[in-house]
Amino acid sequence: MTNKKRSHQAEVLIEGMAEKLNRQIVGSLVACVHCGNCTRSCHYVLTNPDDPTFAPAYKADRIRKIFKRHFDWTGRVFPWWVGAKSIFTVEELEELKDIVFGKCTNCRRCSINCPMGVDYATFNRMMRGLLVSVGIMPEGVAVVSKDQWEIGNQMGVLPEDYIDTIEWMSEEMQSELDDPTAVIPIDKMDADIVYTINPREVKYDPRTISDAGKIFHLAGENWTMPSEGWDMTNFGLFSGDDALGGAVAGRVYEKAKELRAKKIVISECGHGYRSTRCEGPNWAGMDVEIPMESSVITMLRYVREGRIKVDKTRNTKSYTFHDSCNNARSCGLFEEPRELLNLVVTDFREMYPNRSENYCCTGGGGAMSMSEYTPLRLKSAKIKADQLRETGAEVVVTSCHNCVDGLTDLIKHYKLGMEVTQLVNMESEVNKGSGFNVSIPRRSIALSSNDFK
Ligand code: SF4
Ligand code: SF4
Repeated sequence: MTNKKRSHQAEVLIEGMAEKLNRQIVGSLVACVHCGNCTRSCHYVLTNPDDPTFAPAYKADRIRKIFKRHFDWTGRVFPWWVGAKSIFTVEELEELKDIVFGKCTNCRRCSINCPMGVDYATFNRMMRGLLVSVGIMPEGVAVVSKDQWEIGNQMGVLPEDYIDTIEWMSEEMQSELDDPTAVIPIDKMDADIVYTINPREVKYDPRTISDAGKIFHLAGENWTMPSEGWDMTNFGLFSGDDALGGAVAGRVYEKAKELRAKKIVISECGHGYRSTRCEGPNWAGMDVEIPMESSVITMLRYVREGRIKVDKTRNTKSYTFHDSCNNARSCGLFEEPRELLNLVVTDFREMYPNRSENYCCTGGGGAMSMSEYTPLRLKSAKIKADQLRETGAEVVVTSCHNCVDGLTDLIKHYKLGMEVTQLVNMESEVNKGSGFNVSIPRRSIALSSNDFK
């Protein structure tokens, strides 16, 4: 990289920072009192105790120095006093890239443990977006972003392959239920529910689509899947690219509106739920009037209303539950998945710590796309592996496709011998006579970072 190019990148990055700074981010940038609470919260620190560069406060200071130099009067007048600094060297830009993409999964565990309300993950994401805007990013981030911009979903699933898969799963469902009316409707107008999914389901795990279809059918739901705008995942949440975030979320909202759907249901995916339901309207600059909910809540409602019957005694394995950071810590989805899980299993073993204090699966809503950080990611997963092992459970359930892959990867690495599944898989099998059977969890696909290349 030439000095001229690097200097231009730094200039554009600073200009972009000026646009992205808001009260929440500035508040986080100025509030740190260096108490160290966040250090004890981060799984990277806990698994690399001798390396101070993993501490959230250290990582935050790399970004804070730039903020102070350019946007804070103390840094402009007395840069030497407050440690303010511009980005000057190629090495510093590379270090920044490794920090924001490779040394933090944006899990927000440090954020909720900060007495000053510093939300490091928020400005870490901001810096990811700024680096992406000047072309500095891991190759996997560039590849996935390109697929989502150009093909419309982050796994590059072609429109014809999506439709073929839905039709195939529809046929499977019909034959399994032996019911010709059991179909997966596509682009049905005025449905009560439009069901959006993760492209991973199409590409690697299509049974989750037919499992959801069976539940909707048995509950007598008026539902549909959209032919476009079906990818509720959003790589913009991971990459920090707000424009991508707005474009992707906008496609989902526009299609649901075109179909006059009454509700958008989001399949089990932490970053999909957070980006589509919570962050997407802001990125897209849209007032979204259609209500949105996680399929966990939809499934739980069916059981509570008696539209789906479950028989937990048919399930004899031992289960634990992994909270997805995005679902739980960022969106408050703690109790619903546990309530649903306890309706379908007899042996549930809580993992500690849990809910908002749970540790990240280390998949981080997109971290598996960056193969250069895989060894570090798996090393930092030890704390999660220990958590899982201590439960003694045979199966870990999670409500997130990304966590399924993150957990599968670390279970293999640490030889835990556990299965991984989601609630939709556990609730899908029909009891041919008296209601509902809880199926043996199916997890046929173990992804690794290479699958994203
Ligand atoms: S917990 Fe908050 S105030 Fe304390 S060092 Fe971390 S970011 Fe700073
Ligand atoms: S967001 Fe998570 S991974 Fe990142 S510094 Fe905080 S605790 Fe560590």
